[in-house]
Amino acid sequence: MDLTMREKLKQKMGCKDEDFIKPLPVAAPWSKPFWDAAREHRLTLKKCKVCGHIDHPPYLYCTACSSEEAEWIQASGKATLYAYAVNVYGVPFAFMEDLPYVLALVDLPEGPRMISSIVGCDPKDLRNGMELEVVFDDVSPEITLPKWKPVSN
Ligand SMILES: [Zn+2]
Repeated sequence: MDLTMREKLKQKMGCKDEDFIKPLPVAAPWSKPFWDAAREHRLTLKKCKVCGHIDHPPYLYCTACSSEEAEWIQASGKATLYAYAVNVYGVPFAFMEDLPYVLALVDLPEGPRMISSIVGCDPKDLRNGMELEVVFDDVSPEITLPKWKPVSN
């Protein structure tokens, strides 16, 4: 969104600069390693040391066996598109500059289904089942969001 559009929104809708600030994830003690790795542009997953289950989002304990013994593994960075929705309107002011944007569920070969965004392509080209690769969006000095783009052929 250019400043002109933002200024128009402020004038017509009465919103303020703080209305354009996007909410960011807040790391919990059990998810902090995920966000630390993302900041280094590495996709990691929390794997249970007892049963091997991988939870995403990372949780305090294993949702399969309740064990708190876990390790962080490097993910392949690959995924397939399970489902998606293209947002074209009706979003908070902070997300208007991104329209249209794609929210998606992607299946990782390691097991988890991750909610994320698809970037780097025309939403018209998206197809369920297509192959994706992770990209990293440094949205603040502290937070990097893993997102996905179609594998380039
Ligand atoms: Zn487990």
